[in-house]
Amino acid sequence: MDHRFQWTGFDKKRLFYTQGDYGLWQCSKHCHQETYDNEETVKAMVEAQGFNIGEDGALLPPVTEAGKTDFSRLKMVVPSKLLPHCPICGEPMSMNLRADHTFVEDEGWHKAAERYHDFLRRHRGLHTVFLDLGCGSNTPGIFKYPFWQMTAEQEKAVYACINLGEAYAPMELGQKAMCIDGDIGQVLDKLSV
Ligand SMILES: [Zn+2]
Repeated sequence: MDHRFQWTGFDKKRLFYTQGDYGLWQCSKHCHQETYDNEETVKAMVEAQGFNIGEDGALLPPVTEAGKTDFSRLKMVVPSKLLPHCPICGEPMSMNLRADHTFVEDEGWHKAAERYHDFLRRHRGLHTVFLDLGCGSNTPGIFKYPFWQMTAEQEKAVYACINLGEAYAPMELGQKAMCIDGDIGQVLDKLSV
């Protein structure tokens, strides 16, 4: 996850970023099971390259005295002192992203996993929409396949998917699956009219 939900003020206790979060760092050698918020350091890094950060969080490139955008003023490096190191073992930090076996599942991750499974258990059999917004086929075993399976198993469940170019579901789901091939933003705009 790329931290977008937190940006909008969404309660992070209602999120389960099972595959990690770009807003967090961890020890690259996974010497301890803890993650660290990286916002301040990442901001310092982009500012050190010559960007400004707008009020909405947008990156603003440097401008000339005449007010024209000038990308040539950007430094494509960050000062070494900003490179994050593990407070325990001193090795470099890495993104908290499930790329390989070094992925760190900290206490917050385990609590979120528990809340997610608890939610599924409490709502089993009730009217449920399994909403899949833009999940690719990179790691379908995490959400897509379980969503299909739970929809198939539960009479009142519906699987709804919006995806540009990859909106599909098994034929066995029949009327319980709704797949919209399109741009998620545009589709949601139309739904909210
Ligand atoms: Zn470490």
